[in-house]
Amino acid sequence: MIKRFSVKELLNTEPKEQEVVLEGWVKAFRSNRFIALNDGSTLKNLQCVVDYENFDEELIKSISTGAAVKVEGSLIASQGRGQAVEIQANKLTLYGKADADTYPIQPKKHSLEFLREKAHLRIRTNTFSAVMRLRSALSFAVHSYFQQNGFYYMHAPIITGSDAEGAGEMFRVTTLDPKDPPLTENGEVNFKEDFFGKETNLTVSGQLEAEAYAMGLGKVYTFGPTFRAENSNTSRHLAEFWMIEPEMAFYDLDANMDLAEDFIRWVIQYVLDNCQEDIQFLEQRLLDEEKHKPQAERSEMPLSEKLKFVVNNNFKRVSYTEAIDILRNSKPNKKKKFEFGIDEWGADLQSEHERYLVEKHFKCPVILFDYPANIKAFYMRLNEDGKTVRAMDVLFPGIGEIVGGSQREERLEVLQKKIAALDIEEKELWWYLDLRRFGTAVHSGFGLGFERLVQFVTGMGNIRDVIPFPRTPQNAEF
Ligand code: ATP
Ligand code: MN
Repeated sequence: MIKRFSVKELLNTEPKEQEVVLEGWVKAFRSNRFIALNDGSTLKNLQCVVDYENFDEELIKSISTGAAVKVEGSLIASQGRGQAVEIQANKLTLYGKADADTYPIQPKKHSLEFLREKAHLRIRTNTFSAVMRLRSALSFAVHSYFQQNGFYYMHAPIITGSDAEGAGEMFRVTTLDPKDPPLTENGEVNFKEDFFGKETNLTVSGQLEAEAYAMGLGKVYTFGPTFRAENSNTSRHLAEFWMIEPEMAFYDLDANMDLAEDFIRWVIQYVLDNCQEDIQFLEQRLLDEEKHKPQAERSEMPLSEKLKFVVNNNFKRVSYTEAIDILRNSKPNKKKKFEFGIDEWGADLQSEHERYLVEKHFKCPVILFDYPANIKAFYMRLNEDGKTVRAMDVLFPGIGEIVGGSQREERLEVLQKKIAALDIEEKELWWYLDLRRFGTAVHSGFGLGFERLVQFVTGMGNIRDVIPFPRTPQNAEF
């Protein structure tokens, strides 16, 4: 039997005129003789030489960019330059042609916007295949890191009955008839008659459930889809995204920050070690793009240097209070260049402020910690000062917030006061409060938006281009 190979394998195989079979899609067909074949295994194509005189004319005519073919032949040292090996084809099978008049992915530069409309075909471009191979490698790195460090992978529920997660707007899950829902005596929708007997939504975070598991398994992490019905059409928000949420018993905020930093650096080092080809390609893509930009907007470092910089340098840790001082005295603030001016302690930081701190002031990733209690979620641990909480956000150049986390409030009475002040009923959070009634302990965790990490590693400016089929307001095609 003739063995089936991938392009990646063949490029690393010594050519001895051995018979091989290769299946893939035609990237280009030159001079009726040279097929550049790609099968997704690597960015590179393998050149297949078909001497058209030996093949059916109709068949040769049907070979065009995008067609799926099988090539059988012998692997030889390449005659041409640019590749070490090529296949001298003696048999060619056309699986499916791609009509040049209608196939949208032609061998020329397409805009990312155009390709978003063709999300089912864009994976056949070099850019998207590089991004998605990196996304896959990063996922593996995420699991590897946690598995090697004593964490258990926990599947948090996707349908949630707790509406107190407080991380944004939720998508409702229901089987009630929208035209004729059962009503209560007061005329409100009677969710007791809904599938779960109560209101349910798609999860915005697996944190609360992860906390329960950390208080038994010690160290856990979730890595799954997360949903937010936020109508924010930005380059860093999706309605469906993947979040990584480690949660650790007996970790305080410092240990939490140490973990976040170590984790991010480790996964980036992993792709630097394993995905050079794709990173190099994306780096070149960015450099080409930059040529069209004004000098001031060009980034200071090529992609791979930016990644190495993060791996090799400590993140700068700064308290919210210090950050406010820096921002208050900053040039853009004094010259009223910020859309939201900073004059008082307590202000919520906008993305323009985060980016100023990271990109202009510190010029490295920054961890901000000890935020004012009233701009952060109820479950974050109150500091002795009574006004700040043990929160931390990791801020990245070009991205802004990539991680949000905290030490959790483990003291029952403090938590009860907090939720009373927010008018949340204790019965909404009964099981969460139970975790403070039975064997409570210091614990911490964070959430990292996976797509934002993929954006950083690939240098892609828009989050819609780092997930296969993005869900955003008014868009759930495919
Ligand atoms: P932001 O202020 O950027 O909206 P957030 O404060 O709402 O973020 P968290 O609730 O702390 O974010 O969620 C944890 C992480 O999940 C964020 O740091 C970010 O990386 C990611 N994230 C949050 N919302 C989205 C979204 N809509 N799309 C993609 N990633 C997101
Ligand atoms: Mn948000």
